[in-house]
Amino acid sequence: MTLLPTPELGRPAAESFVADHLGHLICDEPLSRSPFEGGQTAADAALASFDVTGYAADRNQVSPNSARGASRLSPYIRHGLLTLPAVWAHVEGPQKDVTKFRDELMWQEYARHLYARLGSRTASALRAQPAQHSVSQPSDVAADQWHSALPCVSLNVEELTETGWLVNQARMWLASHWTVRHQRSWADGEEFFFRHLLDGSRAANRLGWQWTTGAGSHKSYGFSRWQVEKRAPGLCDSCSWEQRCPIASKPREQPVVAVPKPALLASDRTVDQTSGPSSVAAVTYGKAADGHDRGADVVWLTAESLGSRDPALVANPDLPLLFVFDEPLLRRLRLSAKRLVFLVETLAELAADRELQLYRGSPVEILADTKPAVTFAPVPGFRSRLAKLPEAEVHPWPWLTEPHSGAIQSFSAWRRGVDR
Ligand SMILES: Cc1cc2nc3c(=O)[nH]c(=O)nc-3n(C[C@H](O)[C@H](O)[C@H](O)COP(=O)(O)OP(=O)(O)OC[C@H]3O[C@@H](n4cnc5c(N)ncnc54)[C@H](O)[C@@H]3O)c2cc1C
Repeated sequence: MTLLPTPELGRPAAESFVADHLGHLICDEPLSRSPFEGGQTAADAALASFDVTGYAADRNQVSPNSARGASRLSPYIRHGLLTLPAVWAHVEGPQKDVTKFRDELMWQEYARHLYARLGSRTASALRAQPAQHSVSQPSDVAADQWHSALPCVSLNVEELTETGWLVNQARMWLASHWTVRHQRSWADGEEFFFRHLLDGSRAANRLGWQWTTGAGSHKSYGFSRWQVEKRAPGLCDSCSWEQRCPIASKPREQPVVAVPKPALLASDRTVDQTSGPSSVAAVTYGKAADGHDRGADVVWLTAESLGSRDPALVANPDLPLLFVFDEPLLRRLRLSAKRLVFLVETLAELAADRELQLYRGSPVEILADTKPAVTFAPVPGFRSRLAKLPEAEVHPWPWLTEPHSGAIQSFSAWRRGVDR
């Protein structure tokens, strides 16, 4: 394990930090050209300035940028700087826009419930597999494999790799182009997105790829020219293929083979474990203890909950904070530097107010001699690490709606069981 210095505030300091301490774990240069700034201040400012008016009509607009209606809140939602309940409560405006926006928040919540319940099983197709794909481990996809003379593809790949963000519509275009038209493995495409997206999560990214390509629903989304003309008017005029557009018509629907559905899609017998504790719980060797034998001595922050309103952090104002760059995990993931720069900017801001201990190594080893207070994170990696810790004080995850034990094989099936 390596104890790291406290990062200074600001983008240049965050880039230097990544270059000096995490440079061997990234897939590109230790730079970030992303306009998204990490930290609670930036998250709060983004939420305060978001006006939901026009969202329903414009959320899918791809270009020009000025016509986009998407909130761009996702990097902050992804890392818990903005919780779904807080964002839900914040939006005010025309009813149809508020309803549409909250519907999208529910998609995020659905993705989280699905992942919390199924865990790594979401790495495989949930309902159908395009016939030609194997379900093997995703392979490495380089940016130039996305190369295309079509600006509707290349400009979006460029935006993804430069900024770490795309509107939902552009994500669907790329996923469909990669898998439905070119029959490449959705898992490889998902991995490429995951490396670059500042909001990249296994929960929402896998759901997005599976639903777009038909692996989650039997039915794929066909990307073709008419969507570009509608959602990025004028773009085709600049295209050298304008007269011979190779995506003039919808891609042929690819044959899919049904895969055995995981039984967990139908019901969850251990929904309490899926949800995590509903009140602060003392955990000893992965099991709930009778009482608090000794107090927590540090607040363990995870990448799922890095806000200054993290429940464990707020409940323990006098304890130092601790964050671990999980070296074995990062070595496997090889994320883009911009994702780590975003995290370092966020951590630097936390360190300006509280003592922050920053490590690189294995979280379980680093936390072995501590009793951390931590906010439950509904992801399998958190649960497996927590189960290896001698003791912890676990705070509830701020669900938008509590996970239920019923069917979740589709958004509508899931929604029938929720209380919102
Ligand atoms: C192929 C593909 C991959 C995706 N990968 C991710 C990912 O890794 N992480 C991620 O958070 N979202 C992912 N999405 C969902 C969606 O595209 C993004 O959440 C959204 O574009 C983020 O921009 P925004 O904050 O401006 O969204 P807005 O439209 O303003 O929506 C507000 C919030 O609602 C949630 N949301 C909106 N649409 C969706 C959706 N379709 N599914 C789940 N949540 C949604 C997000 O939290 C988002 O921040 C993916 C979608 C597709 C089609």
